[in-house]
Amino acid sequence: MDVSTAAYDRTTFFSPDIEISEALIRRFDSSGPRYTSYPTADRFKAAYTEQSYMGYLAQRATAGANPPLSVYVHLPFCEKLCYFCACNKIITQDHGRSAEYLDYLEKEMAMVAGHLGPDRKTAQLHLGGGTPTFLSAAELTRLMDGLRRHFEFTSDAELGVEIDPRTVNDATLAMLAGLGFNRTSFGIQDFDPAVQAAVNRIQPLDMVERALQASRNAGFQSVNTDLIYGLPKQSVASFDRTLDEVLRLSPDRIALYNYAHLPSRFKAQRLIHAADLPSAEERLQIFLLSTRRLLQAGYVYIGLDHFAKPDDELNKARLDKSLHRNFQGYTTRAELDMIGFGVSAIGKVGASYSASVRSLNAYYHALDEGRLPIERGFDLDADDLLRREVIMDLMCSMPLDFHALNRDHGIDFLRYFAPEIERLAPFSEAGLIELDETSLKVTPKGRLFVRGIGMVFDKYLAQPTVSTYSKLI
Ligand code: SF4
Repeated sequence: MDVSTAAYDRTTFFSPDIEISEALIRRFDSSGPRYTSYPTADRFKAAYTEQSYMGYLAQRATAGANPPLSVYVHLPFCEKLCYFCACNKIITQDHGRSAEYLDYLEKEMAMVAGHLGPDRKTAQLHLGGGTPTFLSAAELTRLMDGLRRHFEFTSDAELGVEIDPRTVNDATLAMLAGLGFNRTSFGIQDFDPAVQAAVNRIQPLDMVERALQASRNAGFQSVNTDLIYGLPKQSVASFDRTLDEVLRLSPDRIALYNYAHLPSRFKAQRLIHAADLPSAEERLQIFLLSTRRLLQAGYVYIGLDHFAKPDDELNKARLDKSLHRNFQGYTTRAELDMIGFGVSAIGKVGASYSASVRSLNAYYHALDEGRLPIERGFDLDADDLLRREVIMDLMCSMPLDFHALNRDHGIDFLRYFAPEIERLAPFSEAGLIELDETSLKVTPKGRLFVRGIGMVFDKYLAQPTVSTYSKLI
C-alpha cells in the first residue's frame, strides 16, 4: 500500500461511509483520562483504608447482594526492562522471588475470602503484570489451585492471562489452557527490529507467530494483541510493515495504544532517546494508517484504542449494548465486583474503589501484620455514581436515556447537567453527538472522541491532580 504523505488523503473512517478528517481529530483530540474508573485512580484518597474496604465487603455479604466477582492478580516480576513501560513492575532474573510473592498472595486471598459472603461466584479472572509467565508452570498451577480453593468459577468464566512471547513455548501455552485459561493477550508493540532494539524488547516475528499459533492449538477462545505507536525509531512505513504481519497473524482483538513519553514520571522511559521519537505529525499519520488498515481488514472499532473481529464477544456486546468498561479496558461483563490481589491491584466493591500499596516491602509488611494492603480508595456518593454511569455509557458509545437516568437517580437530567449540556455544544455542532430533550447519543463519527465527551461530565477535572493525562493520538 502507498503510504507516502502526498498520496494519503488524510481521513480515516469508522464505517465504510463515515470519514473523519484530520482537522476534526486535531480539534477534538484532548488530553484526558481513559476512564477505566470514575473517579479516576489519581483521585483516590488515603482516608479510604483497609477498614473501609472490609466494610464494603461486609455490606455485600450481609445484604445478600452478591453480584459475581472479577478477580485480578498482579504479578509484578519481569526479567528485562522495556523502556516504554509505565507498569508497576520489578525487574529481576531471580526466579526465587516469585515463590515468596505467592506465599503472600495466598495470605491475602485467604483474608479477603473470609470477608466474602457465601455463594459468591467468580465470572472473570485476569492475570496481569509485570509478566505472569515469569512464574514457572508449578507456580502458576499453585496460584490457580489457591484461587480455586477460595473462589468458585462459573462454568463460562473468562480466564485471561497476559503473555510476554519471550517467556513462553508451546508447552507453556498448553499448560495455561490446561489450567482453565481461555483468553490470552500478547504484547507485540512493533515488529520492526530497530524499534525493538530502541525499546529493549527483542522478540522476532517468528517467536511471536509461534506463540500465537501455540495458543490457538491449545484452544484459547480469544487472542488479543497489543500494539503501540509513537515508539522510538517508528515511521509510517515501518509501522505499515508491522500491520502487514499483525493482519496476517489475525488476532481476535487488537489494542492500538499511543505511547505517552513521560520520562519525569516513568524512570524507564529516560532510557529512550527523545530525538528518536516520531513527530506529532508522524504519530497522527501512523494512527490514521492503522485505523484505516484495521477497518479495511474487517476489524470493528470497539472504542478508544480497541478493535475486534465482528464475531468477537466484544463486538457482540457493543451491538447488544452490554459493553462495559473496567480496569482492564472494555469488557462484556457488567456490574461485577472486582477484587484485586497483589501489589498495586485495584478493586471495585459496591460504591467504592480500593488500591493496594505499590511496593513489595509495604505489601509484605501489611500482610505480616495481618492487615490487608489497602493504601487508598474512594467512597462514591450519589453524584459520583450518576456521573460514573453517564461517563461509562459514553465511553462505550451507549445512548443516554434521560428518562431512565431520572428514574434511577431521582434527578431531572436536563436541569442537573445544564452546565455540561452547554459545554457539549461544540460536539453537537461538529456532528459528534445528537442531543435532544430525551437522550444523548454518540454518532458513529463521534465514537473516536468519546473521551472528550465523557470529560464534560467529570467534575474532578477542575481540581488539581498529580497525574499527567495522555492524548488519544
Ligand atoms: S512492558 Fe511488560 S514485560 Fe516490559 S517491563 Fe513492562 S511489565 Fe515488564
